[in-house]
Amino acid sequence: MSDKAKLVHLDGSQGEGGGQILRTALALAAVTGRGVLLENIRARRKNPGLARQHLCAVQAAAQVCQAQVRGAELRSRWLEFIPGKPTAGGYRFDIGTAGSTTLVLQTVLPPLLVAEGASQVEITGGTHNPMAPPFEFLKETFAPALARTLGRLELELLRPGFYPAGGGRIQARIEPTAPGPGIQWTEPVRPRVVLAQVLLARLPRHIATRELDVLRRKLRLEEDQLEILARDDAGPGNAVLVHVQAGPVREVFVGFGQRGKPAPRVAAEVVQQVQAFLQARVPVGPHLADQLLIPLALLGRGAFLTTRPTRHTQTNAEVIRRFLPVEFSFHEHSPGQWRVQVQCPSEEPSG
Ligand code: ATP
Repeated sequence: MSDKAKLVHLDGSQGEGGGQILRTALALAAVTGRGVLLENIRARRKNPGLARQHLCAVQAAAQVCQAQVRGAELRSRWLEFIPGKPTAGGYRFDIGTAGSTTLVLQTVLPPLLVAEGASQVEITGGTHNPMAPPFEFLKETFAPALARTLGRLELELLRPGFYPAGGGRIQARIEPTAPGPGIQWTEPVRPRVVLAQVLLARLPRHIATRELDVLRRKLRLEEDQLEILARDDAGPGNAVLVHVQAGPVREVFVGFGQRGKPAPRVAAEVVQQVQAFLQARVPVGPHLADQLLIPLALLGRGAFLTTRPTRHTQTNAEVIRRFLPVEFSFHEHSPGQWRVQVQCPSEEPSG
């Protein structure tokens, strides 16, 4: 039996045991043409199996590469996915809930980066969700990094969508390019906060001013570094976004307003994340670290300095290794700074 004909068997309860195993498996099955059988999907989550967002990711990936799929039902804990060839084109996906549009995009992006030609993808659902990349992170942090590897990703926020109402819409233009210079971000940096934004949709303005007040004081920001983005076409919803320039990378940290949670606490929690990152003096934050692994693995090379790799990042590396001939190494470079390296087994380590 050829390698391509053999199914990759994956246990969804391994490591971090969440939706990332499914998304990475779908993306790389589509890229490599290898079929995959997933069991115990999201076994370590309170609500295991395929939720709406995951089901939409399965259907989206299947559409992009004309896959044959079994087990694609709400709450299903298993899935068989036999991909065809990824095809560029215009696609629209609707999650049907406030599930994360950016995570569905994360699933179809790798196959559309290896397809022939540019694609346009529009996704409806949540654009600012806890436990998912906020739109601004994809646009400011991830897309510029991706441009150094395999392709261009241009993004537009057509309408924000928050939990539980959803109804947000993002548009992505994906254009494969020749391999870029890659990523060698291995030097410590001096990160600085450049901008704090409060996204406010159909909620009283004093929420935003109280949040900005905390950010201004605790992060020592000037008035011209504070911004309120008020929208009345969506919501209700509230997100606090802090942009940090860390050497070559613009990192974006986020926190979410929640009914019953005081606005100053929402801001203070983001400040905590930002301060931990500023102290670490690394260019790559914990989320970008796990999201860079697929582009670097497809490119076959790259290295960066980040904070202690999360279980999420390590699990992602394990899943990627099942599909691609790459090795990942994680070494503590100095206290709190970790060097992540991606390479093909035959290559000598660089740098
Ligand atoms: P599920 O609920 O589907 O099981 P999951 O457990 O895989 O999801 P997470 O582990 O929280 O979800 O993360 C999903 C993805 O979202 C990861 O790629 C992670 O890097 C990214 N992510 C989560 N929070 C942020 C954030 N604040 N900024 C950027 N990316 C984020």
